[in-house]
Amino acid sequence: MTLQLPEPVSQILLQLTNAGFEAYAVGGCVRDALLGRTPEDWDITTSARPEQVKSLFRRTIDTGIQHGTVTVMMGREGFEVTTYRVDGEYLDGRHPREVSFTPLLSEDLKRRDFTINAMAYHPDQGLVDLFGGARDLEAGLIRAVGVPEERFQEDALRILRAIRFSAQLDFSIEPETLRAIAAFAGRLQLISRERIQTELNKLLKSPHPEKFRLLYETGITQILFPRFDEMMVLAQNNPYHCCTVGEHTLRMLTHTPPEPVLRWCALLHDTGKTTTHSTDGRGIDHFYGHGKASAEFARQFLRDLRFDNATVEAVTTLVHYHDYSFDMTKANLRRAICRVGEDLFPALLQIVRADTLAKSLYAQERLLPRIQQLEEMYQEIQTDKDCVALRQLAVNGRDLIAAGMQPGPHLGQVLNQLLQLVLEHPEWNTREILLEKWKSLNV
Ligand code: ATP
Ligand code: MG
Repeated sequence: MTLQLPEPVSQILLQLTNAGFEAYAVGGCVRDALLGRTPEDWDITTSARPEQVKSLFRRTIDTGIQHGTVTVMMGREGFEVTTYRVDGEYLDGRHPREVSFTPLLSEDLKRRDFTINAMAYHPDQGLVDLFGGARDLEAGLIRAVGVPEERFQEDALRILRAIRFSAQLDFSIEPETLRAIAAFAGRLQLISRERIQTELNKLLKSPHPEKFRLLYETGITQILFPRFDEMMVLAQNNPYHCCTVGEHTLRMLTHTPPEPVLRWCALLHDTGKTTTHSTDGRGIDHFYGHGKASAEFARQFLRDLRFDNATVEAVTTLVHYHDYSFDMTKANLRRAICRVGEDLFPALLQIVRADTLAKSLYAQERLLPRIQQLEEMYQEIQTDKDCVALRQLAVNGRDLIAAGMQPGPHLGQVLNQLLQLVLEHPEWNTREILLEKWKSLNV
Protein backbone atom coordinates (compact mmCIF):
# COMPACT_ATOMS: atom_id res chain seq x y z
CA MET A 1 0.00 0.00 0.00
CA THR A 2 1.68 3.19 -1.18
CA LEU A 3 0.11 6.61 -1.00
CA GLN A 4 1.32 9.64 -2.89
CA LEU A 5 2.33 12.25 -0.33
CA PRO A 6 3.04 15.86 -1.30
CA GLU A 7 6.75 16.64 -1.21
CA PRO A 8 6.64 18.91 1.88
CA VAL A 9 4.73 16.23 3.84
CA SER A 10 7.34 13.58 3.01
CA GLN A 11 9.99 16.09 4.00
CA ILE A 12 8.40 16.77 7.41
CA LEU A 13 7.95 13.04 8.10
CA LEU A 14 11.56 12.38 7.12
CA GLN A 15 12.97 15.13 9.30
CA LEU A 16 10.99 13.97 12.33
CA THR A 17 11.93 10.33 11.75
CA ASN A 18 15.62 11.17 11.25
CA ALA A 19 15.56 12.95 14.61
CA GLY A 20 14.38 9.72 16.23
CA PHE A 21 10.64 10.45 16.52
CA GLU A 22 7.65 8.69 15.05
CA ALA A 23 5.57 10.66 12.58
CA TYR A 24 2.60 9.88 10.33
CA ALA A 25 0.13 11.53 8.04
CA VAL A 26 -3.18 11.01 9.83
CA GLY A 27 -6.95 11.39 9.72
CA GLY A 28 -8.91 12.98 6.89
CA CYS A 29 -5.95 13.18 4.49
CA VAL A 30 -5.24 9.45 4.72
CA ARG A 31 -8.94 8.72 4.21
CA ASP A 32 -9.14 10.99 1.16
CA ALA A 33 -5.86 9.72 -0.35
CA LEU A 34 -7.11 6.12 -0.02
CA LEU A 35 -10.30 7.16 -1.80
CA GLY A 36 -8.24 8.69 -4.60
CA ARG A 37 -9.42 12.19 -3.68
CA THR A 38 -7.12 15.15 -3.21
CA PRO A 39 -7.04 15.96 0.52
CA GLU A 40 -7.74 19.56 1.46
CA ASP A 41 -5.00 19.60 4.04
CA TRP A 42 -2.47 17.13 5.37
CA ASP A 43 -2.28 16.64 9.11
CA ILE A 44 0.72 15.04 10.75
CA THR A 45 0.80 13.27 14.09
CA THR A 46 4.06 12.66 15.92
CA SER A 47 5.62 11.35 19.13
CA ALA A 48 7.68 14.56 19.30
CA ARG A 49 6.61 17.20 21.84
CA PRO A 50 5.71 20.64 20.50
CA GLU A 51 9.05 22.14 21.67
CA GLN A 52 10.87 19.35 19.90
CA VAL A 53 8.91 19.93 16.69
CA LYS A 54 9.71 23.63 16.90
CA SER A 55 13.42 23.01 17.35
CA LEU A 56 13.56 20.80 14.23
CA PHE A 57 12.06 23.26 11.74
CA ARG A 58 13.17 26.72 10.80
CA ARG A 59 9.76 28.36 10.59
CA THR A 60 6.88 27.32 12.84
CA ILE A 61 3.73 28.93 14.23
CA ASP A 62 2.18 28.10 17.60
CA THR A 63 -1.27 27.35 16.22
CA GLY A 64 -2.74 25.41 19.11
CA ILE A 65 0.22 24.81 21.31
CA GLN A 66 -1.93 23.89 24.33
CA HIS A 67 -3.41 21.05 22.27
CA GLY A 68 0.02 20.08 20.95
CA THR A 69 -0.37 21.60 17.48
CA VAL A 70 2.44 23.44 15.74
CA THR A 71 2.19 24.66 12.16
CA VAL A 72 5.35 23.92 10.20
CA MET A 73 5.88 26.28 7.28
CA MET A 74 7.32 24.75 4.13
CA GLY A 75 7.69 27.58 1.68
CA ARG A 76 4.37 29.36 1.74
CA GLU A 77 2.42 26.32 2.82
CA GLY A 78 1.73 25.43 6.43
CA PHE A 79 1.25 21.90 7.79
CA GLU A 80 -0.21 21.12 11.19
CA VAL A 81 1.97 18.81 13.23
CA THR A 82 0.28 17.57 16.41
CA THR A 83 1.79 15.56 19.24
CA TYR A 84 0.15 12.17 19.96
CA ARG A 85 -2.50 12.95 22.51
CA VAL A 86 -5.39 11.56 24.45
CA ASP A 87 -8.39 13.63 25.37
CA GLY A 88 -9.07 13.82 29.07
CA GLU A 89 -12.52 13.38 30.54
CA TYR A 90 -15.36 15.10 28.75
CA LEU A 91 -17.51 16.67 31.41
CA ASP A 92 -19.81 18.79 29.30
CA GLY A 93 -20.30 16.82 26.10
CA ARG A 94 -18.24 19.33 24.17
CA HIS A 95 -14.72 19.86 25.38
CA PRO A 96 -12.25 17.50 26.95
CA ARG A 97 -11.33 18.86 30.38
CA GLU A 98 -7.69 18.58 29.48
CA VAL A 99 -5.60 16.96 26.80
CA SER A 100 -2.47 15.07 27.60
CA PHE A 101 0.32 13.77 25.45
CA THR A 102 1.03 10.09 25.00
CA PRO A 103 3.97 8.22 23.52
CA LEU A 104 1.60 5.79 21.76
CA LEU A 105 0.20 6.22 18.26
CA SER A 106 -2.54 3.73 19.14
CA GLU A 107 -3.82 6.02 21.91
CA ASP A 108 -3.96 8.94 19.53
CA LEU A 109 -5.88 6.95 16.94
CA LYS A 110 -8.32 5.64 19.55
CA ARG A 111 -9.57 9.16 20.42
CA ARG A 112 -10.58 9.86 16.80
CA ASP A 113 -14.22 9.77 15.79
CA PHE A 114 -14.74 7.26 12.98
CA THR A 115 -12.74 4.28 11.74
CA ILE A 116 -12.21 5.89 8.34
CA ASN A 117 -10.75 8.96 10.10
CA ALA A 118 -8.50 6.96 12.41
CA MET A 119 -5.81 5.70 10.06
CA ALA A 120 -2.19 6.82 9.90
CA TYR A 121 0.37 6.45 7.13
CA HIS A 122 4.14 6.58 6.84
CA PRO A 123 5.97 5.72 3.61
CA ASP A 124 8.20 3.18 5.41
CA GLN A 125 5.58 1.71 7.78
CA GLY A 126 2.68 1.75 5.36
CA LEU A 127 -0.87 2.08 6.65
CA VAL A 128 -1.60 1.85 10.36
CA ASP A 129 -5.23 0.80 10.55
CA LEU A 130 -6.17 -0.46 14.01
CA PHE A 131 -9.97 -0.29 13.71
CA GLY A 132 -10.72 -1.58 10.22
CA GLY A 133 -10.90 1.84 8.61
CA ALA A 134 -9.79 0.55 5.18
CA ARG A 135 -12.45 -2.15 5.30
CA ASP A 136 -15.15 0.39 6.19
CA LEU A 137 -13.89 2.70 3.46
CA GLU A 138 -14.28 -0.17 1.02
CA ALA A 139 -17.78 -0.97 2.32
CA GLY A 140 -18.84 2.67 2.43
CA LEU A 141 -19.54 2.73 6.17
CA ILE A 142 -19.30 5.38 8.86
CA ARG A 143 -18.54 3.50 12.08
CA ALA A 144 -17.59 5.00 15.42
CA VAL A 145 -14.22 4.02 16.90
CA GLY A 146 -14.98 2.05 20.07
CA VAL A 147 -18.39 2.10 21.76
CA PRO A 148 -20.59 4.53 19.79
CA GLU A 149 -22.69 5.63 22.79
CA GLU A 150 -19.57 6.60 24.72
CA ARG A 151 -18.12 8.50 21.79
CA PHE A 152 -21.30 10.55 21.21
CA GLN A 153 -21.70 11.16 24.90
CA GLU A 154 -18.16 12.56 25.04
CA ASP A 155 -18.65 14.89 22.11
CA ALA A 156 -22.09 15.40 20.60
CA LEU A 157 -20.71 17.19 17.56
CA ARG A 158 -19.68 13.75 16.29
CA ILE A 159 -23.40 13.04 15.78
CA LEU A 160 -23.54 15.69 13.08
CA ARG A 161 -20.10 14.80 11.74
CA ALA A 162 -21.27 11.23 11.10
CA ILE A 163 -24.17 12.40 9.00
CA ARG A 164 -22.20 15.03 7.09
CA PHE A 165 -19.48 12.48 6.23
CA SER A 166 -22.19 10.14 5.00
CA ALA A 167 -23.43 12.97 2.73
CA GLN A 168 -19.96 13.97 1.53
CA LEU A 169 -18.89 10.40 0.77
CA ASP A 170 -22.29 8.81 0.05
CA PHE A 171 -21.65 6.29 2.84
CA SER A 172 -24.14 4.49 5.05
CA ILE A 173 -23.97 4.71 8.80
CA GLU A 174 -23.25 1.40 10.47
CA PRO A 175 -26.37 0.28 12.42
CA GLU A 176 -24.90 0.39 15.95
CA THR A 177 -23.50 3.85 15.25
CA LEU A 178 -26.83 4.97 13.82
CA ARG A 179 -28.72 3.72 16.87
CA ALA A 180 -26.37 5.65 19.14
CA ILE A 181 -26.89 8.79 17.06
CA ALA A 182 -30.63 8.55 17.58
CA ALA A 183 -30.18 7.83 21.28
CA PHE A 184 -27.91 10.84 21.88
CA ALA A 185 -29.43 13.37 19.47
CA GLY A 186 -30.64 15.43 22.43
CA ARG A 187 -27.02 16.11 23.43
CA LEU A 188 -26.72 18.40 20.41
CA GLN A 189 -28.32 21.03 22.59
CA LEU A 190 -24.93 21.35 24.26
CA ILE A 191 -23.12 22.22 21.05
CA SER A 192 -22.52 25.82 20.01
CA ARG A 193 -24.59 27.22 17.15
CA GLU A 194 -21.44 28.10 15.21
CA ARG A 195 -20.22 24.51 15.17
CA ILE A 196 -23.67 23.25 14.22
CA GLN A 197 -23.73 25.76 11.38
CA THR A 198 -20.37 24.52 10.09
CA GLU A 199 -21.52 20.90 9.99
CA LEU A 200 -24.93 21.61 8.45
CA ASN A 201 -23.24 23.76 5.85
CA LYS A 202 -20.88 20.95 4.89
CA LEU A 203 -23.78 18.51 4.76
CA LEU A 204 -25.90 20.79 2.58
CA LYS A 205 -23.23 21.68 0.04
CA SER A 206 -22.14 18.04 -0.27
CA PRO A 207 -22.92 15.80 -3.26
CA HIS A 208 -25.75 14.17 -1.26
CA PRO A 209 -27.74 16.87 0.52
CA GLU A 210 -30.76 14.54 0.53
CA LYS A 211 -29.02 12.76 3.41
CA PHE A 212 -30.53 15.57 5.43
CA ARG A 213 -33.29 12.97 5.81
CA LEU A 214 -31.06 11.17 8.32
CA LEU A 215 -31.35 14.18 10.62
CA TYR A 216 -35.10 13.65 10.59
CA GLU A 217 -34.98 9.90 10.98
CA THR A 218 -32.63 10.07 13.97
CA GLY A 219 -34.62 12.78 15.77
CA ILE A 220 -32.02 15.52 15.27
CA THR A 221 -34.37 17.90 13.45
CA GLN A 222 -36.71 17.59 16.41
CA ILE A 223 -33.97 19.28 18.43
CA LEU A 224 -32.43 21.68 15.90
CA PHE A 225 -35.22 22.32 13.40
CA PRO A 226 -38.64 21.16 14.69
CA ARG A 227 -40.37 23.02 11.86
CA PHE A 228 -38.87 20.44 9.50
CA ASP A 229 -40.67 17.64 11.35
CA GLU A 230 -43.95 19.44 10.76
CA MET A 231 -43.07 19.82 7.09
CA MET A 232 -42.39 16.10 6.74
CA VAL A 233 -46.01 15.33 7.61
CA LEU A 234 -47.68 18.32 5.95
CA ALA A 235 -49.54 16.94 2.91
CA GLN A 236 -50.15 19.06 -0.18
CA ASN A 237 -53.29 17.98 -1.95
CA ASN A 238 -52.69 20.10 -5.02
CA PRO A 239 -52.08 19.11 -8.66
CA TYR A 240 -48.74 20.91 -8.58
CA HIS A 241 -47.42 18.67 -5.86
CA CYS A 242 -46.87 15.00 -5.31
CA CYS A 243 -45.61 14.72 -1.77
CA THR A 244 -45.40 16.35 1.63
CA VAL A 245 -43.65 19.68 2.04
CA GLY A 246 -40.67 17.96 3.66
CA GLU A 247 -40.29 15.32 0.94
CA HIS A 248 -40.55 18.04 -1.69
CA THR A 249 -37.81 19.98 0.11
CA LEU A 250 -35.48 16.96 0.16
CA ARG A 251 -36.10 16.39 -3.54
CA MET A 252 -35.47 20.01 -4.33
CA LEU A 253 -32.10 19.87 -2.55
CA THR A 254 -30.88 17.29 -5.06
CA HIS A 255 -31.86 19.57 -7.97
CA THR A 256 -30.15 22.62 -6.50
CA PRO A 257 -26.54 23.50 -7.46
CA PRO A 258 -24.09 22.87 -4.59
CA GLU A 259 -23.75 26.49 -3.48
CA PRO A 260 -24.44 27.11 0.21
CA VAL A 261 -26.78 30.07 -0.39
CA LEU A 262 -28.83 28.07 -2.91
CA ARG A 263 -28.94 24.93 -0.79
CA TRP A 264 -29.97 26.85 2.34
CA CYS A 265 -32.66 28.54 0.29
CA ALA A 266 -33.90 25.16 -0.91
CA LEU A 267 -33.97 23.83 2.65
CA LEU A 268 -35.92 26.81 3.97
CA HIS A 269 -38.00 27.91 0.98
CA ASP A 270 -41.28 26.31 2.13
CA THR A 271 -40.88 26.56 5.90
CA GLY A 272 -43.76 29.06 5.94
CA LYS A 273 -46.21 26.52 4.55
CA THR A 274 -47.01 25.17 8.00
CA THR A 275 -48.44 28.52 9.04
CA THR A 276 -50.16 29.53 5.79
CA HIS A 277 -52.00 26.30 5.02
CA SER A 278 -55.64 26.42 3.94
CA THR A 279 -57.97 23.96 2.17
CA ASP A 280 -60.60 25.17 -0.27
CA GLY A 281 -64.13 23.85 -0.86
CA ARG A 282 -62.86 21.29 -3.36
CA GLY A 283 -60.35 19.89 -0.88
CA ILE A 284 -57.36 21.49 -2.59
CA ASP A 285 -54.58 22.75 -0.29
CA HIS A 286 -53.22 26.28 -0.66
CA PHE A 287 -50.39 28.15 1.01
CA TYR A 288 -51.08 31.78 0.19
CA GLY A 289 -48.28 34.13 1.19
CA HIS A 290 -45.93 31.35 2.14
CA GLY A 291 -42.95 33.03 0.43
CA LYS A 292 -43.06 35.87 2.90
CA ALA A 293 -43.77 33.59 5.86
CA SER A 294 -40.88 31.33 4.86
CA ALA A 295 -38.54 34.31 4.51
CA GLU A 296 -39.40 35.42 8.03
CA PHE A 297 -38.74 31.95 9.38
CA ALA A 298 -35.51 31.66 7.37
CA ARG A 299 -34.16 34.96 8.66
CA GLN A 300 -34.64 33.95 12.28
CA PHE A 301 -33.34 30.43 11.72
CA LEU A 302 -30.15 31.58 10.01
CA ARG A 303 -29.55 34.29 12.59
CA ASP A 304 -29.92 31.73 15.36
CA LEU A 305 -27.26 29.65 13.62
CA ARG A 306 -25.00 32.73 13.68
CA PHE A 307 -24.79 33.19 9.94
CA ASP A 308 -23.18 36.36 8.60
CA ASN A 309 -25.53 39.14 7.46
CA ALA A 310 -24.72 38.77 3.76
CA THR A 311 -25.76 35.11 3.77
CA VAL A 312 -28.89 35.81 5.82
CA GLU A 313 -29.96 38.56 3.42
CA ALA A 314 -29.25 36.58 0.25
CA VAL A 315 -31.04 33.43 1.41
CA THR A 316 -33.97 35.37 2.84
CA THR A 317 -34.47 37.35 -0.36
CA LEU A 318 -34.39 34.22 -2.51
CA VAL A 319 -36.82 32.46 -0.17
CA HIS A 320 -39.15 35.45 -0.24
CA TYR A 321 -39.35 35.55 -4.04
CA HIS A 322 -39.06 31.83 -4.86
CA ASP A 323 -42.73 31.59 -5.70
CA TYR A 324 -42.85 34.52 -8.09
CA SER A 325 -45.62 34.37 -10.68
CA PHE A 326 -44.52 32.83 -13.96
CA ASP A 327 -46.87 34.75 -16.21
CA MET A 328 -44.41 37.50 -16.72
CA THR A 329 -44.14 40.14 -19.35
CA LYS A 330 -40.70 41.49 -20.05
CA ALA A 331 -41.52 44.66 -18.10
CA ASN A 332 -42.62 42.57 -15.15
CA LEU A 333 -39.41 40.61 -15.39
CA ARG A 334 -37.37 43.83 -15.32
CA ARG A 335 -39.33 44.91 -12.24
CA ALA A 336 -38.61 41.55 -10.62
CA ILE A 337 -34.87 41.85 -11.33
CA CYS A 338 -34.95 45.35 -9.88
CA ARG A 339 -36.67 44.17 -6.72
CA VAL A 340 -34.61 41.02 -6.15
CA GLY A 341 -31.35 42.65 -7.23
CA GLU A 342 -29.31 42.02 -10.35
CA ASP A 343 -26.64 40.07 -8.49
CA LEU A 344 -29.11 37.65 -6.97
CA PHE A 345 -31.48 37.20 -9.87
CA PRO A 346 -29.59 34.40 -11.68
CA ALA A 347 -29.67 32.48 -8.38
CA LEU A 348 -33.44 33.00 -8.19
CA LEU A 349 -33.81 31.42 -11.64
CA GLN A 350 -31.81 28.42 -10.44
CA ILE A 351 -34.03 28.16 -7.37
CA VAL A 352 -37.25 28.38 -9.39
CA ARG A 353 -36.02 25.64 -11.71
CA ALA A 354 -34.93 23.35 -8.86
CA ASP A 355 -38.23 23.93 -7.05
CA THR A 356 -40.18 23.00 -10.18
CA LEU A 357 -38.13 19.85 -10.82
CA ALA A 358 -39.23 18.68 -7.37
CA LYS A 359 -42.95 19.14 -8.12
CA SER A 360 -45.47 16.87 -9.83
CA LEU A 361 -45.06 15.94 -13.51
CA TYR A 362 -48.14 18.04 -14.19
CA ALA A 363 -46.39 21.04 -12.66
CA GLN A 364 -43.18 20.37 -14.55
CA GLU A 365 -44.94 20.10 -17.90
CA ARG A 366 -46.68 23.39 -17.34
CA LEU A 367 -43.94 25.35 -15.63
CA LEU A 368 -40.66 24.26 -17.20
CA PRO A 369 -41.43 25.81 -20.63
CA ARG A 370 -42.31 29.06 -18.88
CA ILE A 371 -39.09 29.02 -16.92
CA GLN A 372 -37.25 28.45 -20.20
CA GLN A 373 -38.96 31.56 -21.62
CA LEU A 374 -38.12 33.49 -18.50
CA GLU A 375 -34.45 32.54 -18.83
CA GLU A 376 -34.43 33.60 -22.47
CA MET A 377 -36.08 36.92 -21.67
CA TYR A 378 -33.56 37.42 -18.89
CA GLN A 379 -30.74 36.83 -21.40
CA GLU A 380 -32.22 39.43 -23.75
CA ILE A 381 -32.45 41.95 -20.94
CA GLN A 382 -28.79 41.29 -20.15
CA THR A 383 -27.71 41.52 -23.80
CA ASP A 384 -29.67 44.71 -24.40
CA LYS A 385 -28.31 46.13 -21.14
CA ASP A 386 -31.83 47.25 -20.17
CA CYS A 387 -31.83 49.40 -17.09
CA VAL A 388 -32.91 47.36 -14.05
CA ALA A 389 -31.34 49.38 -11.23
CA LEU A 390 -31.09 52.98 -10.08
CA ARG A 391 -27.38 53.08 -10.81
CA GLN A 392 -28.09 52.29 -14.48
CA LEU A 393 -30.52 55.15 -14.84
CA ALA A 394 -29.32 57.74 -17.41
CA VAL A 395 -29.82 60.56 -14.91
CA ASN A 396 -28.77 60.93 -11.29
CA GLY A 397 -29.48 63.39 -8.50
CA ARG A 398 -26.86 65.84 -9.73
CA ASP A 399 -28.49 65.96 -13.17
CA LEU A 400 -31.84 66.78 -11.62
CA ILE A 401 -30.32 69.55 -9.48
CA ALA A 402 -28.53 70.95 -12.53
CA ALA A 403 -31.91 70.96 -14.28
CA GLY A 404 -33.34 73.10 -11.52
CA MET A 405 -34.58 70.70 -8.86
CA GLN A 406 -34.19 71.54 -5.17
CA PRO A 407 -31.86 69.14 -3.30
CA GLY A 408 -33.55 67.00 -0.65
CA PRO A 409 -35.19 63.64 0.03
CA HIS A 410 -37.69 64.33 -2.72
CA LEU A 411 -34.84 63.68 -5.17
CA GLY A 412 -34.79 59.98 -4.37
CA GLN A 413 -38.52 59.67 -4.95
CA VAL A 414 -38.27 61.32 -8.35
CA LEU A 415 -35.39 59.06 -9.37
CA ASN A 416 -37.48 56.09 -8.33
CA GLN A 417 -40.43 57.28 -10.38
CA LEU A 418 -38.15 57.65 -13.38
CA LEU A 419 -36.79 54.17 -12.77
CA GLN A 420 -40.33 52.79 -12.77
CA LEU A 421 -40.92 54.45 -16.15
CA VAL A 422 -37.72 53.00 -17.57
CA LEU A 423 -38.52 49.51 -16.29
CA GLU A 424 -41.68 49.74 -18.38
CA HIS A 425 -40.00 51.50 -21.37
CA PRO A 426 -36.28 50.70 -21.50
CA GLU A 427 -35.86 52.88 -24.61
CA TRP A 428 -36.60 55.95 -22.46
CA ASN A 429 -33.35 55.59 -20.57
CA THR A 430 -31.58 58.66 -22.01
CA ARG A 431 -30.83 61.98 -20.32
CA GLU A 432 -32.94 63.97 -22.75
CA ILE A 433 -36.03 61.81 -22.47
CA LEU A 434 -35.80 61.43 -18.71
CA LEU A 435 -35.36 65.14 -18.05
CA GLU A 436 -38.33 65.70 -20.32
CA LYS A 437 -40.34 63.11 -18.35
CA TRP A 438 -39.28 64.68 -15.10
CA LYS A 439 -40.73 68.01 -16.22
CA SER A 440 -44.02 66.34 -17.04
CA LEU A 441 -43.96 64.54 -13.64
CA ASN A 442 -43.60 68.00 -12.14
CA VAL A 443 -46.78 69.44 -13.63
P1 ATP B 1 -12.63 17.56 6.59
O1 ATP B 1 -11.40 18.37 6.88
O2 ATP B 1 -12.84 17.16 5.22
O3 ATP B 1 -13.85 18.17 7.21
P2 ATP B 1 -11.41 15.72 8.40
O4 ATP B 1 -11.60 14.26 8.65
O5 ATP B 1 -10.04 16.17 8.01
O6 ATP B 1 -12.48 16.16 7.35
P3 ATP B 1 -11.20 17.55 10.56
O7 ATP B 1 -12.27 18.24 11.32
O8 ATP B 1 -10.25 18.35 9.74
O9 ATP B 1 -11.90 16.44 9.69
O10 ATP B 1 -10.38 16.70 11.65
C1 ATP B 1 -9.21 16.00 11.35
C2 ATP B 1 -9.20 14.68 12.08
O11 ATP B 1 -9.31 14.89 13.49
C3 ATP B 1 -10.38 13.77 11.74
O12 ATP B 1 -10.12 13.00 10.59
C4 ATP B 1 -10.51 12.93 12.99
O13 ATP B 1 -9.51 11.91 13.01
C5 ATP B 1 -10.15 13.92 14.09
N1 ATP B 1 -11.34 14.61 14.63
C6 ATP B 1 -11.83 15.80 14.25
N2 ATP B 1 -12.90 16.16 14.96
C7 ATP B 1 -13.10 15.17 15.85
C8 ATP B 1 -14.04 14.96 16.89
N3 ATP B 1 -15.02 15.84 17.15
N4 ATP B 1 -13.92 13.82 17.61
C9 ATP B 1 -12.95 12.93 17.36
N5 ATP B 1 -12.04 13.07 16.41
C10 ATP B 1 -12.09 14.17 15.64
MG1 MG C 1 -9.43 18.25 7.72
